[in-house]
Amino acid sequence: MTSLSELSCLCNSQKSYAQCCEKLHLGNAHAKTPEQLMRSRYVAYAMKKADYIYQTYAHDKQIENPLNEIAEFAESCRFINLKIILSDHDENTGIVEFCVSYIFQNLLCQLHEKSRFIKEGNNWKYLDGEIFPTDEVHIGRNDTCPCGSGKKYKKCHINV
Ligand SMILES: [Zn+2]
Ligand SMILES: [Zn+2]
Repeated sequence: MTSLSELSCLCNSQKSYAQCCEKLHLGNAHAKTPEQLMRSRYVAYAMKKADYIYQTYAHDKQIENPLNEIAEFAESCRFINLKIILSDHDENTGIVEFCVSYIFQNLLCQLHEKSRFIKEGNNWKYLDGEIFPTDEVHIGRNDTCPCGSGKKYKKCHINV
């Protein structure tokens, strides 16, 4: 059986999970750029690792983003794609614009956000983001699932 570590990382880096976001999730490495942190946070959402998401919020933002709310959101969504649109940073601040696709209650949703990151100590943290309006598309039971499995939605993850 293939271990999770050998599978390609859900952030679409084309690397294995072990070579990519797993090191960050395990605390064996720190993100070198805001984009790396953003990717690892996306994968943490997809893998429902709420602790990691909480810990990578900037300190001042942790109070507004309690662990149970992060966990609830991650549990209620099926994350299916991450697209990085742009990323840039200097010594202590950075931005990443991205679009995440996810399924929530039979809707195909997009989160298009321009996030701000700051350095705390030596580590990049997520500060906040500007969210752009997107459309939600209803997924019919017999539609091909938008996750790319090739199955009908009702056979894929209707219970999400
Ligand atoms: Zn990754
Ligand atoms: Zn699916």
